[in-house]
Amino acid sequence: MKPLRLVRRGIARRRAGGGEHAPRFITTPAVLEQIQREVAYAAETGSHLRVAGRGHTRAPMCRCDDGLLQLSRFTGLEEVDAVHGIVWVRAGTRMAQLARELAGYGMMLPTLGWPGNESIGGAVSIGSYGLGTGDNRHACPVVGLRMIGADGALFSIGAQEARLPVARVSLGTLGVLTHVGLRCVPATHMRARVARGSLSAALKRVEATRAHDYVEWYWHAHGDDIRIRTIDRRPRRPPSQRGRPLDSGAARLRSAALRLADALPQVSRRLPRRLIPERARVPKDVDAAYSWQLFADSSLGSLGYALPVSELGDVLESLGGVMRALDPRDRVLLRVRYICADDGALSPAYGQETAVVHLTAAEGAREHAEAAGEIFDRAGARPLWSMPVEHHAADLAARFPLWEDFATLRADLDPRGLFLNDYLAGLFGVSEP
Ligand SMILES: Cc1cc2nc3c(=O)[nH]c(=O)nc-3n(C[C@H](O)[C@H](O)[C@H](O)COP(=O)(O)OP(=O)(O)OC[C@H]3O[C@@H](n4cnc5c(N)ncnc54)[C@H](O)[C@@H]3O)c2cc1C
Repeated sequence: MKPLRLVRRGIARRRAGGGEHAPRFITTPAVLEQIQREVAYAAETGSHLRVAGRGHTRAPMCRCDDGLLQLSRFTGLEEVDAVHGIVWVRAGTRMAQLARELAGYGMMLPTLGWPGNESIGGAVSIGSYGLGTGDNRHACPVVGLRMIGADGALFSIGAQEARLPVARVSLGTLGVLTHVGLRCVPATHMRARVARGSLSAALKRVEATRAHDYVEWYWHAHGDDIRIRTIDRRPRRPPSQRGRPLDSGAARLRSAALRLADALPQVSRRLPRRLIPERARVPKDVDAAYSWQLFADSSLGSLGYALPVSELGDVLESLGGVMRALDPRDRVLLRVRYICADDGALSPAYGQETAVVHLTAAEGAREHAEAAGEIFDRAGARPLWSMPVEHHAADLAARFPLWEDFATLRADLDPRGLFLNDYLAGLFGVSEP
């Protein structure tokens, strides 16, 4: 039987990240059997199929001329084991919805740093499963995956399987991720604090970051001043005192005051300073259900890199020197965050405590962005998969020690390349997607 399709090319143009593309068909299945039918149909007709969560990724990951499968209707918690703190969630669920549903069971994710708009399937597939080094002893909360493979059959990868770390960050090339098993912790209240600090101190005292659940700082690539934000879990307060969403009247007033204060410093600083997301400038207390409101969405950062924390100081010193030589004004803004090492084959933090750097250049500062990109590249930084990557397979293999393990698993599970597009075929060095 031919599967039901919703052909909505305009929506694909807008939503499925990575620029303009017009898939022949777009499907938004709401039940598992329908996803299976779509995959089987693509296999039978020799088509390619890309999967999208929210389609926010800037790299052309979701681009496909044949079929696009969007999981925006396949959402919600499916199983909750409150005793062991394990849940299974449908892959299309947005992080904001997940945080609210988990809070209803008195739970939250152990890692912080998830923005609200992305889907859990997209975030896991791209390797952004939360950040922080403090309390996050295990970098990744994923304990299992359920997928539909290239033959349309359902399969699971469990917590004890050696395949799990290889398959976790899949860029959507192993199959359709339908459910993610997640380890959770008891829900707490969270407190975000903002302070001014110095770059030299932040680089020297990395161990201080491990005392917090989450640390990020912003630097204008000039001088020594940084703005540091820390987020820590706190015991829950009684319901009457709990944090409300950031868009409450009081929060709006406070934000307006902060905006005014930020407009006052010297003119040369105005442009990059405006780029610091408002939520990073506002100290805030929230409950677990609103945790995502503390983290910036993908509007920040046109370039993103992951590099060992131990190399961050040298790279930033050289970056600062080049930026000052190019321009007396500060034209780029960097956000630095920390993740503990993990075991995901294609994870940006594989095997090393990692600094994740997002860089935003002011309008017209293309030369600055290019120079910064070269510095990170020469330092052997790993790419963040959400940004377009120009490296070839051999180069990526040098940056990701388990690259070949992943490539072998991909070729085993999807020998015809049903889940590839041109961009991904290029990354994996596969000639015909
Ligand atoms: C370390 C790191 C830190 C990041 N920090 C931030 C941040 O602070 N703020 C921010 O907004 N973004 C951040 N990003 C980027 C962000 O994580 C992604 O853009 C986001 O996860 C995309 O979510 P999405 O639902 O839009 O996924 P999509 O763009 O829809 O998909 C992303 C990828 O996952 C695949 N995929 C999606 N769903 C499935 C599925 N069900 N089955 C199989 N494959 C699937 C897609 O094919 C695609 O390859 C970060 C990324 C990394 C790696």
